[in-house]
Amino acid sequence: MSGEELVLRSTRVITPEGTRAASVVVSDGTIVAVRAHDAAVSTHARVEDFGDDALLPGLVDTHVHVNDPGRTEWEGFWTATRAAAAGGITTLVDMPLNSLPPTTTVANLRTKKDVAAAKAHIDVGFWGGALPDNVKDLRPLHDAGVFGFKCFLSPSGVDEFPELTQDQLAVSMGEIAGFGGLLIVHAEDPHELAAAPARSGPRYADFLDSRPRVSEDTAIEGLIAVAKRIGARVHILHLSSSDALPLIAAAKREGVRLTVETCPHYLTLTAEEVPDGASEFKCCPPIREAANQDLLWQALADGTIDCVVTDHSPSTADLKTADFATAWGGISGLQLSLPAVWTAARARGYGLEDVVRWMSTRTAELVGLDQKGAIEAGRDADFTVLAPDETFTVDPARLQHRNRVTAYAGKTLSGVVKSTWLRGQRIVSDGEFSAPAGRLLERKN
Ligand SMILES: [Zn+2]
Repeated sequence: MSGEELVLRSTRVITPEGTRAASVVVSDGTIVAVRAHDAAVSTHARVEDFGDDALLPGLVDTHVHVNDPGRTEWEGFWTATRAAAAGGITTLVDMPLNSLPPTTTVANLRTKKDVAAAKAHIDVGFWGGALPDNVKDLRPLHDAGVFGFKCFLSPSGVDEFPELTQDQLAVSMGEIAGFGGLLIVHAEDPHELAAAPARSGPRYADFLDSRPRVSEDTAIEGLIAVAKRIGARVHILHLSSSDALPLIAAAKREGVRLTVETCPHYLTLTAEEVPDGASEFKCCPPIREAANQDLLWQALADGTIDCVVTDHSPSTADLKTADFATAWGGISGLQLSLPAVWTAARARGYGLEDVVRWMSTRTAELVGLDQKGAIEAGRDADFTVLAPDETFTVDPARLQHRNRVTAYAGKTLSGVVKSTWLRGQRIVSDGEFSAPAGRLLERKN
């Protein structure tokens, strides 16, 4: 039994076979066995007994804007990875835009990695970006280990990351499909956005009218058509419009290689509750009505939507002005995504197994991280210890995000993260962090 350094015990271990009382045996940062709760323990092993707190695989968040270097005053690797760890996330994949430089060449990827290496409290991987003028950079970025490529079909919000036209989309998608890569898409149609009523000011209803569902639906319809023609693997980012669900379900039935994510804010906040002027709720596509949200939950349950990611996209507070038309669009969710989703999920009758599937297993699968996303032998010993029935009220002062602007302030949420573990090391416990031990990850195949 030598080499068994650590045994984690809980009456509620979330495994791929369901929730059970178990002892999880860890050696050298890897799970080596999942045994009976009362299984005999090697004499040199250290035992951590979490009682009835749940033991989850560490969450894998594949949609995070860290903004470092270049816009580090918005968020940086130090603060983002601490917030993530505090929220039970052990792996994040960083979006290619809002940092300067954006991750659109191999040299830029190196710059980002150099910055992230010493600051990462959790494991960090990188998406590349597909721009109108960097088709020649896609293959080298793929070979350098990015997990796929992000593009926009409408303006991204920052000048250095322009969107693709339909022709450019087909060119980039063809190139990426040629080497077996993944294209991830911000799907809002620029013509539908231009045709929507554009009113400035503090009224949320006006903002919602300016980003109608049809802009998502049209973009997704077009995207599916191109993906089908090229045979490419495509992922739809941050789906908000429930009207697009039938299109997506039909494409999946037809065998189009399509996956879809949504976000905690679309699942837990509603347009009806956004106060006028409260641009901490602004993101694109927008938070929509309660009836729309019900359909997103149904789609998660039936697999039309694959996974849930934060789209953590902060800015400094001064950019969150009261005018929805000009305020920065992005919601900070890293530290609160697990309790926010769990609170809403349990109210709708879902279990922690479902939350783990949406926020860890399926996101790990999306990026091919087969050492993450589940508690089973052979995987990394990444865990979240969650007290699922304990509640807390969100106090912005307790957030680790660089800017403590949050759409969740004052909400009472279920699920307190007690500790988070990365490769068998406790990285945060009751708000106390250990030194950064995260690694930089590369796509495996
Ligand atoms: Zn995003």
